[in-house]
Amino acid sequence: MTRPDQTPLVTFAGAGPGAADHVTLAVARALAEADVVLHDRLVGPEVLALAGPQALLIEVGKQGFGPSLAQETITGLILGFAREGRSVLRLKSGDPAVFGRLGEETAALELAAIPYRVLPGITAASAAAAALGQSLTERGRNKELRLVTGHDAEGYSESDWAALARPGAVAAIYMGKAAARFIQGRLMMHGAPAETPVTLVENASRPEQRICPATLATLPQAAADLSGPAVILLGLAPRAGATALLEHVI
Ligand code: SAH
Repeated sequence: MTRPDQTPLVTFAGAGPGAADHVTLAVARALAEADVVLHDRLVGPEVLALAGPQALLIEVGKQGFGPSLAQETITGLILGFAREGRSVLRLKSGDPAVFGRLGEETAALELAAIPYRVLPGITAASAAAAALGQSLTERGRNKELRLVTGHDAEGYSESDWAALARPGAVAAIYMGKAAARFIQGRLMMHGAPAETPVTLVENASRPEQRICPATLATLPQAAADLSGPAVILLGLAPRAGATALLEHVI
């Protein structure tokens, strides 16, 4: 099959945090046009429903640094379908460039001299902050924002704890539920006060979204109560004006 236009055969795209209305128009178009959609487990049915009737949908595993199909198996599938002339959409949750192993997959395409494009998506931190009515950066409070992972391929992940423990610091911690006690310990060891606000947002943007306002002292308890994907917003509490959204507090 030859393609009439210059659209690359392989598209890496972000599906956003879950809700179909958080998918960009460009990604919705790519979904409608793709022959094959290779998606992560966190990409839900609401988003996959935007795929065209011709599309072959294949789940290739978990997200981030967690277990999934071996990376070589995933890149092997992308390369195999692209070499057959089929348009491939590699769909990741949130933004593909945030804890999505994008670099490993694009490197494989570069080695194989197959062109690709990247379409961004709304990352979980953005959806979670929006749920709190909060700004991720704010003049006079934090001039920087850190995106941190709670664990990586080696286990619990070390970060610049001294920077994160400073007054006013804001970080979005991905994959942090299991590491909650470790994170609490590291931050307190570096002088962060026990009353530092921490808000956990589970299933951001989805109908089952839950906002759990906590503090560094109560972080492990709050994390233990969650079962879905959650982002831990360190240094942020829900804004008073957004309290109407707090019906889902547990
Ligand atoms: N590329 C994704 C992140 C993948 S890592 C992004 O940009 O959002 C997977 C982690 O993302 C989960 O463990 C969780 O911390 C976070 N996550 C993904 N979807 C989420 C959602 N709807 N609500 C809260 N956290 C989410």
